[in-house]
Order: sequence, then C-alpha cells, then structure tokens
Amino acid sequence: MAVETNNTPFQKPPKLKQIGGSLLTFITILLLLNLAIIPSLGSHYRDVPYSDFIEQVEAGKVERAIVGPERIQYTLKPAPNSPSEPPRVFVTTPVTIDLDLPKILRENDVEFAAPPPDNLGWLSTVLGWIVPPLIFFGIWGWLLSRNQGGGPAALTVGQSKARIYSEGSTGIKFDDVAGVDEAKAELQEVVEFLRDSSRYTQIGAKIPKGVLLVGPPGTGKTLLAKAVAGEAGVPFFSISGSEFIELFVGVGAARVRDLFEQAKQQAPCIVFIDELDALGKSRGGNSPFIGGNDEREQTLNQLLTEMDGFDANSGVIILAATNRPDVLDPALRRPRRFDRQIVVDRPDKIGREAILQVHAQYVKLAEEVDLAKIAARTPGFAGADLANLVNEAALLAARQHHPAVTMADFNEAIDRVIAGLEKKSRVLSDIEKKTVAYHEVGHALVGSLMPGAGTVEKISVVPRGVGALGYTVQLPEDDRFLMMEDEIRGRIATLLGGRSAEELIFGKVSTGAGDDIQKATDLAERSVTLYGMSKSLGAIAFEKSQPQFWEGWQNPRRSVSPKVAEEIDREVKDMVDRAHQMARLILQTNQTLLEQIAEILLHQEILEGAELQEQLKSAIAPASLQDWLQTGKLPQELPQLQPAA
Ligand code: ADP
Ligand code: MG
Ligand code: ZN
Repeated sequence: MAVETNNTPFQKPPKLKQIGGSLLTFITILLLLNLAIIPSLGSHYRDVPYSDFIEQVEAGKVERAIVGPERIQYTLKPAPNSPSEPPRVFVTTPVTIDLDLPKILRENDVEFAAPPPDNLGWLSTVLGWIVPPLIFFGIWGWLLSRNQGGGPAALTVGQSKARIYSEGSTGIKFDDVAGVDEAKAELQEVVEFLRDSSRYTQIGAKIPKGVLLVGPPGTGKTLLAKAVAGEAGVPFFSISGSEFIELFVGVGAARVRDLFEQAKQQAPCIVFIDELDALGKSRGGNSPFIGGNDEREQTLNQLLTEMDGFDANSGVIILAATNRPDVLDPALRRPRRFDRQIVVDRPDKIGREAILQVHAQYVKLAEEVDLAKIAARTPGFAGADLANLVNEAALLAARQHHPAVTMADFNEAIDRVIAGLEKKSRVLSDIEKKTVAYHEVGHALVGSLMPGAGTVEKISVVPRGVGALGYTVQLPEDDRFLMMEDEIRGRIATLLGGRSAEELIFGKVSTGAGDDIQKATDLAERSVTLYGMSKSLGAIAFEKSQPQFWEGWQNPRRSVSPKVAEEIDREVKDMVDRAHQMARLILQTNQTLLEQIAEILLHQEILEGAELQEQLKSAIAPASLQDWLQTGKLPQELPQLQPAA
C-alpha cells in the first residue's frame, strides 16, 4: 500500500524569515565592504620586484617614494623626451625591513616620505569592535525566535525529519509469539475488530481505543503489537516514546499530530507507541531540581488530545508498551484512553519451551537436544533472552564446525548469557585458584541443604565475564514466584557459604565474597523493611516499594525515628550474622566432604550434573538447621569455629 508523507501545511513564521534574511544581508554588506576597502589600499599600480626598484633608484630614475612598512609606492621621473606624460607610479614590497634604504634614497636624490596615516584605520577599529557582537546577537536572536514561536517555529526542525510512520504490514503472526497466551487471547478481540468492525458497531459495542502492554523488557511487547497488525492484515504505525522528546519544544507535539494524521488516512490500522513511559511520565511530578519538562508535557497533552479527538470505531487502535506502568500519568489511563491493560510477563517453563521452539525452527538441532531441559535451566529468561540464547548456541556450533547445534552448545550458551564469556586467559595463581575452589564448594554445600533452592547444577572455577572467578549454578525445580521466610534465610546462608569456607579453611578471608555479601545484605534488608518479616518490627513497610524516577536524590526509606532506624539496622545485622554462623556450622560439620569436593574441582575445573549430585548427597545437616530455618534463632551456644591447620 502506498503511503504518502503528510506534511501538514504549517507556515514558516515571517519573523524567522526576516531575521534570517537581515542577517544574510548584513553579512553580504560586510563582504562588499571588505572588497571595497582592500583595493583602495593601492594595488591598482603595477607591482615590481624590489630589486628592480633599487636598480631604478641607483640609475637615478626615481623622483619620489612613499615608504611604508609593507609597501613602497614610487614615481619615476618623467622621461626626458616626453615631459608632459603623466607620472608613472609603481609599487613594490620590500623583502625585509631594509635599513639601508633611506641612505640609498638620499644618495640618489630621491624625495621620500612615510605614507599618510591610514584614514581607513578608524573604520577597521569600529568594525572590529562592533561586528563580532552583532553576529553574536544575530545568531542569538535567531535561535531565540525559533523557540519562542512555540510549535510552528520549531517545525523547521520537525519537518526535516518528516517521516512515514507506517511500517506497512508486519507479516508477523500470533504463531511467532509464544508463551504469552493470555495476552494473545485478550488481543484476539482487537484483531477481530480490525478485520470486521461491523460486527461490533452493529450492536453498539465500543472497542477499547487504547491498549497498554505492560511487562518487563524483552518479553515480546513490540512483537505482540506487530503480530496484532499482522494477524488483522492492517498497516502498523509505530513510534517510540523517546523519539517524541526533542531538544526543541513543540516538535514532539507536531510529530504526534503527524502520526495520527497519517494513521487516520490508513484506517483501519494499528498505532503503536513504544516506551510510553518516556513520554507519559506523570506531569508535575518532576523533581524541582530538573525543572519542568515543557517538551514532554506538550507532547503528552497533544497525545491526549489526539486520543480524545477520534472515535475508536473509526478503526485506529492504539497500542502502547511500557515496563514502568507506575510512572505513567493517570490521565493516560482514563476510560477511552489506555483503559485496557494487558500484562506481558516473563514466561514460565512451558512458555519458555514454546518460545525456544519458535526460535529453534530456524536452526538445525541435533537429535539429542531437549528444549524442555533448556527451558528448565533458564528460569527468569524473557523471550528476548531465549531468542538470544538460541542464536548464541548456533554461533558456537558453527564456530566449532558442528553439523548441528548440540546440547553442549546450549549449555555453554546458557553459561555465557548468565555469567559472561569464559576468560581462560585470566591466569590465577595456585593460592587464588584454591581459594576460589573452596569458596564455590562452600556455596554448593550450604545451598544443597537449603529448602526450596533446587539442585546445585554446576560449580566452576573457570573465570567468566567481568568479575567472576568462579561460579555456582543452582536451579529451582520449578519457577518460583514467592519466597518463604525459611527460603530467604537459606538463600542468605548460601550466599555466605563462600566466605564461610574461606574462613574455615584458610583462617583468613579474600575480597572474592564482596558481591555475595552485598546480595545477602540486600536480601536481609528487604525482608525487614519491605516484606515485614521481622518479629520485633512487625509488618510495616519501611521502604517505599516503588522507587521514584528521580531515584537516588531521595531517600527510598520512609521517614522513621532514629530509634527505629537503629532497630532496622540491628535486625538486618542479626539476620545476616545468624545465617553466616549457620553456614559456617554446616561447613564445619562437612569439612572432609568440603575438602574432597574442592580437590576434585581443582583438578577438573568444572563439576556438574550427576557427578556433583553424587558428592553433595552425603552432606550432613546440623541438628540446629531446621530450628534456625523455622524461627531464625540459633541455639545458645554454637561450637566455636576452629580454623583447619
Ligand atoms: P519488548 O518490546 O517487550 O522489550 P520485543 O518484542 O522487542 O520485547 O522482543 C525482542 C525479541 O525477542 C523479539 O523480536 C523476539 O525475537 C524475541 N521474543 C521476545 N518475546 C518473545 C515471545 N514471547 N515469543 C517469541 N519471541 C519473543
Ligand atoms: Mg519493545
Ligand atoms: Zn561467592
């Protein structure tokens, strides 16, 4: 379908033209002035070499000379046979300042003088002082006029970027989107309406005008919007919220106008606004430090106006996507605007398998590849991550000249996506390697005894990514959406397992546990301040659950009395400390096993699957573990830690 660019006929403001025009005239005048000044400084006389001049002086032919620092103008004596001839005047340029010249001239009876003071001097002085500020003010005024004129003036910028927003038909079908069945079911209605609106209009039903797709990045929101257009076979108009935000106030609003103008001509169609949050942040919610954002407000207002200005049954349906629905201006969610929200969440295990299937159809898979297993190993992956995973695996296979993508390629790809690239080149000293090995086995051993954390799949001491010298992969059997109190304690203890192993074996600690400690503390703090899990503080939220978008400039904690703040800190510290003690107790109880597994790991670098399970199976849980998991309390006296010799 042909699409016309619709340049809304805005007129250029005359003011702009005037200023621009006068600036141009001014510069032209300056140029002409320059041209006029330079010749008058005397280049219409013949130029002769300096040596010729000296020769003529010495031959007694020169009558008079005007000697300037850069130029010498001289007149020859009239030729003896034709005295009435007009005097012949020449100019010459001295090679350097010739100090002998006055002497030579005097000796040859030449009348000489300095040039009269430059009567154009004042002009250049005046120009020198006046022109630069004039140019400056000219440009300034010109820029100012572009902004002050509001919308239309700035359009000179918007128009140059005039674009066709339509991507035509997308060719994407619902089959290309997997794992989001609820969202697809909801959108099916929109598709049906676009295909045949009469069914709805006859009965007087109003289809939602705007549908907001909400979900984390990479879950397929953009893809879904395209699929709706593809399924219905209508044109797809798209623009991203951040594209609306321009340097010049009014451009965004003009673009919105443009977009809707184009869309209305192509109805039925889909208008898709990606990253709506970039544009639709609550108005007036701006931090006083940033100042108001006129551009965004104008654009948003224009969008609201446009949305109100047409009838949904005209066939234009607006889809928008955001991963921050919390910051959206309430006006956007009013009825007849984006009044329907569809959540596009990260896929569950079955969903992940379906998405893998969609993307794996384009690559050659080995017989042994079990997508269900891969899905189980990738909790938390969004659609985009899975698409990326399949591609990574295919790249790996191609690099190693495999005829098809194998399970090993997938496993390596998963590690890459989770932990980064392998860094075989990073050579650790023996003592470092040993520290890393014990550290990781410490995580694995503690983790294997904790509830709800799943099985420890893999331990590795091959450095990866930016900071990881080793890593432990522990995967839950099922996707988890809630964490129980005891599981949080278990998780904190697992995180501190690495540090505990270092303490137990080496009697001193390394910097390797920094990240673990950070995570453990965060989790403990959240369980106290956000999940209300502290007995003494109760179910009170001490933290604002939704950080504001000027995050960082404001304390995310509610205002609490110093006493309560102290209490929070103590609770957090207690929680972490106890988990730490429990981790040490577990490792102490299983010290032989710890050493045994660490030796194997040092030898093979990677320990995984059944072999690892076999080892971890013999770990013994200390008697006080269950108690601690349930109550968070430790028996009065824990056996004192004895560093190994
Ligand atoms: P979002 O807009 O939610 O950030 P996208 O729609 O841009 O995510 O997804 C990026 C890519 O990831 C898609 O082009 C597609 O290849 C893949 N993808 C994401 N979600 C899915 C899904 N549910 N099914 C199939 N592929 C998906
Ligand atoms: Mg997107
Ligand atoms: Zn660690």
